[in-house]
Amino acid sequence: MEKNLPYDHHHQQPVPQAPPSYDNTQPGYPNLNQPQPVILTQPQVMQAPPNVLGGVPSMATCPSCGVRRQTKVEFEPSTKTHLLALLICMLGGICCCCIPYCTDSCQSAKHTCGSCGAYVGTYKN
Ligand SMILES: [Zn+2]
Repeated sequence: MEKNLPYDHHHQQPVPQAPPSYDNTQPGYPNLNQPQPVILTQPQVMQAPPNVLGGVPSMATCPSCGVRRQTKVEFEPSTKTHLLALLICMLGGICCCCIPYCTDSCQSAKHTCGSCGAYVGTYKN
């Protein structure tokens, strides 16, 4: 049986028509393949020990490369540094206000990864 579909490819709109009928009369083949159970593979999240950052280079796990090793520490002025500088400036004069900027203990310790240099965390005094 030959079906002549009245479908004109030159027209933009397809002629509304029933989709080509599939032969549902034939019995389907028995499905030998049992449906595979869906196994949700959850990624094993290794809970790394928390990074305990201090004012000195500390052991920390890099959030970027995942390497746990000694961090590099850079000291940068924090809000406390500026406040302390302002306080010293008012009390002791402008010549002394740069002291907090030169004192590591008055500044935040910025830890970066010793492997890739990514930012790990900041220790605030
Ligand atoms: Zn890293």
